[in-house]
Amino acid sequence: MTELKDLQTRDNPTWCPGCGDYGIQAAVKGAIVAAGLSPAETVIVSGVGCGSKLPHYVRTYGLEGLHGRPLPVATGVKLANPSLTVMAVGGDGDGYGLGMGHLVHSMRRNINITYIVQDNQIYGLTTGQTSPTSAKGTRTKSTPGGAIEMPVNPIELGLASGATYLARGYAGDLPHLTSLIAGALKHRGFALIDVFQPCVTFNKVNTYDFFGKRVYRLEDDKTFEVATPGNEKAICEAVRRGREMGDRIPIGLFYKEDRATYEDEEPGLAEGRPVDVGDEVVDVAGLMEGFM
Ligand code: SF4
Repeated sequence: MTELKDLQTRDNPTWCPGCGDYGIQAAVKGAIVAAGLSPAETVIVSGVGCGSKLPHYVRTYGLEGLHGRPLPVATGVKLANPSLTVMAVGGDGDGYGLGMGHLVHSMRRNINITYIVQDNQIYGLTTGQTSPTSAKGTRTKSTPGGAIEMPVNPIELGLASGATYLARGYAGDLPHLTSLIAGALKHRGFALIDVFQPCVTFNKVNTYDFFGKRVYRLEDDKTFEVATPGNEKAICEAVRRGREMGDRIPIGLFYKEDRATYEDEEPGLAEGRPVDVGDEVVDVAGLMEGFM
């Protein structure tokens, strides 16, 4: 039985004090425990960005990859050994900017990966530029006159692209976020969880105060039902709620579907996992040195 202390690493996070990434880190750990996962059978893959340091701070297998590329790497891990639980993490710039193509194709494939997007509506690591989820009019050093583009809406994107577990969380609501991630880890298929993650240093608009006054849990609204395939009324309502970004902003599970995964459909996996070292202890030191 995995406990929180089993997931502690020797590294201390270098995030700014108060960064929303701390809440996401805690929720990921809590969800691994709640889902009953073994650290030895769990892999976290990230891209590049502040939040992409997460694999260093959760004691599972982990890999920090290239900017915008956590999903192709996570896909490779999953196909090499489908028995692993694979998570991918990265920021909104990483996932909805550089990695957008990978995201759309991962969703339509329904590969069994949980993807957590640390959505702070800005590029944090590069000191505060407009990102794909920045609201129109956002003023940053890259858009001093205000952003002229419409932001990406992850909920509508996920509904249109085939995600089978589609949720939005908030780094300031830890129990709720933990529950959403645990649900995604237990789900068979591609799960997208967009997480509001206040960047306390560079985003002075989308703050804890901003979200604290606005977010509400979908499950607290008895008129809302989680959308499922064929339930057009509920799907339309999920779209409408996904567009709510004013005085009220919903968090929770928007859509869920049971559909065959990419691994289920891939004939090459019918004969078993491609990588199986059995009980053999493999020394990867030489291999790793080649990448250093
Ligand atoms: Fe977090 Fe922003 Fe600091 Fe990056 S710059 S660690 S996103 S608060």
